[in-house]
Amino acid sequence: MIYFDNAATTAVKKEVLEKMLPYFSENYGNASSIYTIGRTSAAAIAKAREQVANAIGCKSNEVYFTGCGSEADNWAIKGVAFANKSKGKHIITTAIEHHAVLHTCQYLEKHGFEVTYLPVDEYGKVSPEAVKNAIREDTILITVMFANNEIGTIEPIAEIGEIAKEHKILFHTDAVQAIGAVEIDVNKLGIDLLSLSGHKFGGPKGVGALYIKSGVRIDNFMHGGAQEKTKRAGTENLAGIVGLGTAIEIACSNISEKAAKIAKIRDYIIKNISENIPYSRLNGHPTDRLCGNVNFSFEFIEGEGMLLHLDLNGIAASSGSACTSGSLDPSHVLLAIGLPHGIAHGSLRISVGDTNTMEEADKLLEILPSIIQKLRDMSPLYEEIKNK
Ligand code: PLP
Repeated sequence: MIYFDNAATTAVKKEVLEKMLPYFSENYGNASSIYTIGRTSAAAIAKAREQVANAIGCKSNEVYFTGCGSEADNWAIKGVAFANKSKGKHIITTAIEHHAVLHTCQYLEKHGFEVTYLPVDEYGKVSPEAVKNAIREDTILITVMFANNEIGTIEPIAEIGEIAKEHKILFHTDAVQAIGAVEIDVNKLGIDLLSLSGHKFGGPKGVGALYIKSGVRIDNFMHGGAQEKTKRAGTENLAGIVGLGTAIEIACSNISEKAAKIAKIRDYIIKNISENIPYSRLNGHPTDRLCGNVNFSFEFIEGEGMLLHLDLNGIAASSGSACTSGSLDPSHVLLAIGLPHGIAHGSLRISVGDTNTMEEADKLLEILPSIIQKLRDMSPLYEEIKNK
């Protein structure tokens, strides 16, 4: 199999798994217990917290472990909204956020909050000026994703951080796709809250983290025991946390070197598709994009057909449209950048990771044009265009 879906999830790295294994069956103590194996667990969690803090430039007591990236997004947004509602009930976000953010905002709207969903340009970028203009007296939170999971566009986070600071408004960013791909320093970027997820950078599934700058007013999301300094109840996912810590340390070392290697494969695929497949359109920003993201729309075809044919040829990729996400609508991200429904349905996301090779890219590029041609040959619309 050739795996080109690293934005969906990644394999747990061997070194990460090795570090995790003892915490299932030997060092299995509850980190809240005072005897030796309990203290061993507490020390392992403390180390992972340090590893996360080093990766994003914060203090370790500002890192809280969660059950996934979605939980971190939910906690950041609902927690800030409910804790600060006496100051105001207005939130600013964008139309292209992950559903973990969008659906949380929609939930808050049902509870009396008002949300501004800012549009993005044709490349998927939100304008800092638009963020500034959307600020009101009662704005309590700006939440803008670091980089988009479908089209890879990197948002102007530093500029938005500055605006938020100027107006004394809390700034949250969903950095689930950016960790390990972009250098992040939360203090330099003016970020107050940041979400991340272990399984996107060589760690395990079912564990995430939320950075909460000290002093930020936020309600608890999980209620119960005193874990995570009483802020997030529940016996810690010990092995998962150890895995996340190890994975983030690996992912965030030599980022620029690794990103350049991945970007070389990305650019090779983009150039080849653009030059060789007619009626194709690159989605996302031409330069400010994640090092591993390729997203194309191909006219006159359905994304699902493409994915099935790629799978038959041993290639795993993804599409931003219909059935893959269990919905009949095309992706909200592709619609937000102005793609018509028809074209948005024929989209393909190839997400390159650090284990992919140029040979794998060649295999993809060898097979893709014939798959697209086969599907187009079945399209009456394409037939019409050809005859014209
Ligand atoms: N945010 C973004 C941008 C994502 O890409 C994802 C996962 O695809 C999530 C949030 C949710 O993360 P998790 O799968 O850990 O809940």
